[in-house]
Amino acid sequence: MKENLEQMAKQYKAVVEQIRKEREQLGLEISNTLQKALAYQGSTFNIQPFQNPEGIEGSAQNWHKVYAKETQLCQNCKTKISRIKQNGRSTFFCPSCQK
Ligand SMILES: [Zn+2]
Repeated sequence: MKENLEQMAKQYKAVVEQIRKEREQLGLEISNTLQKALAYQGSTFNIQPFQNPEGIEGSAQNWHKVYAKETQLCQNCKTKISRIKQNGRSTFFCPSCQK
């Protein structure tokens, strides 16, 4: 009984540590993505042009991997990019990589 509890406590601590590491990595990735988006000054598409206050168009669309690419294959796994609409807005994703 005591060994089971100790084993469960050990497993619980391992899961908590894994979650902590994943949260830390997610925070770093979000920060990197936001900094990159700011550096590229937004995304410019024909249907949704974006310009900064000086009239310069953003170039973030050049590094999008799935957005507005529903006719293309995922760069990672070659699965066709999917598009769904949620509240009138489109979401693009790879159904294999982004579950
Ligand atoms: Zn993929």
